[in-house]
Amino acid sequence: MEYRKLGKAGLPVSQLSFGTWITFGNQISYETAKELMVIAYESGINFFDNAEIYANGRSEEVMGSILKEVGWSRDSYAISSKVFFGSGGKLPTQRGLHRKHIREACDDALRRLQVDYLDIYFCHRPDKSTPIEETVWSMHQLFMAGKILYWGTSEWSAQEIMEAHMIAARHNLIGPVVEQPQYNMLHRQKVEVEFSQIYKTVGLGLTTWSPLASGLLTGKYNNGIKENYRLKRAELNWLAERNLVEENLTKVSELLNLAREIGTDLTRMAIAWCLKNPNVSTVLLGASKPEQLKHNLKAPDVVPLLTEEVMEKIENILKNKPIQ
Ligand code: NDP
Repeated sequence: MEYRKLGKAGLPVSQLSFGTWITFGNQISYETAKELMVIAYESGINFFDNAEIYANGRSEEVMGSILKEVGWSRDSYAISSKVFFGSGGKLPTQRGLHRKHIREACDDALRRLQVDYLDIYFCHRPDKSTPIEETVWSMHQLFMAGKILYWGTSEWSAQEIMEAHMIAARHNLIGPVVEQPQYNMLHRQKVEVEFSQIYKTVGLGLTTWSPLASGLLTGKYNNGIKENYRLKRAELNWLAERNLVEENLTKVSELLNLAREIGTDLTRMAIAWCLKNPNVSTVLLGASKPEQLKHNLKAPDVVPLLTEEVMEKIENILKNKPIQ
C-alpha cells in the first residue's frame, strides 16, 4: 500500500481508505463489518471514515465495537467522523455547524467510537445559517481540547473553504486541511476545476468519495438490477434516479470494453483512474461484501496500465472533461 500526505498536513494516509456509508449498522451484519475492517487493515489501509448521520449513529457504534474487539494499537490507524446532519434528532439544536451541535456531536462520536480523539473531523456540508467564523472557532476549540487532530470540510465550495482559511489566519486558529468531495469518472468538476488553485495556495488534501458512483462503475447495473444492490434500495431511489440514466449506462458499457482491452476490469480501472489524480490524498472505498473489497484493493496495480493513450480513450468515452 502506498501512503500519501493529506495535502500539506503531515498525516500519512493510505491511498485507499475505507468508509461505512449505507453499510455499517444498516445493510450488513456486525460480523461482515468486522471482516471488512480486518481485510482493509491487514492490507495496509490506515484510514477509516464515518459520520454521525450514518445509520443515525449506529455506524459509529459498530466501528467502535469492532475497534475495541480487534484491539489494534491506536497509533496504527486514523479515524474520522463528520458533523452536520445529526444522528436522528429532528430539533434545530441537533444538527448544523453551530457551536452547540459541533461540541455535542463530537462528544457523541467519541463515545460511540470508543476513542479519545478523532484524527480528522469533517463539517459534512456547509451550514448557510451559521457564520463560518463560529464554525472555525468551534473546530479550533475541539482541537485545543485534544478531541480532534485535524479538521476538514465535505462538499464545501472553494470560496467557503477559502473563507474558513482567512478567518483561521486572521485569528491564529487551526484551519481546515482537507475536503471530502465526490470524485469519479462521472463526477469531476469540483476536484478538477473548482479546487485547482487551492491545492497549492492552502495545501488542500482530498479524501474522495464514491469512486464507483455507488457501484454503477462496476458495470453490474448494465446487466439488469438485482434486488440486493445499493441502487435498488428503496430509501436510495433519489440516488438511483441520479445515476441510473441511459447516458451513464452507455458510457459504462464502452468503459467495460476498454477495461477488458487493457487486461483489467472496469471496477479496478475506475478506482485506479481516481488514484491517477495527484491531488487525491486517498480514495475512500465502500463495500458490502468481503469479495468486493478484496477485489477493489488490487486497483493500484492497474494505475500503470492507464497510459496517456488509455487516458485519452477514457476521455473520448466520458466526454465530460471539465473546462479549466
Ligand atoms: P463506491 O462508489 O465505491 O460504492 C460502494 C458500493 O458499490 C458498495 O457498497 C457496493 O454496493 C458496490 N461495490 C463496491 N465494490 C464492488 C465490486 N467489486 N463489485 C460489485 N459491487 C461493488 O463508494 P461509496 O459511495 O460507498 O463511498 C465510499 C465512502 O465515501 C463511504 O463509505 C463514505 O465513508 C464516504 N462518503 C462520503 C460522502 C460525503 O458526503 N462526505 C458521501 C458518500 C460517501 P452494493 O453491494 O450494495 O451494490
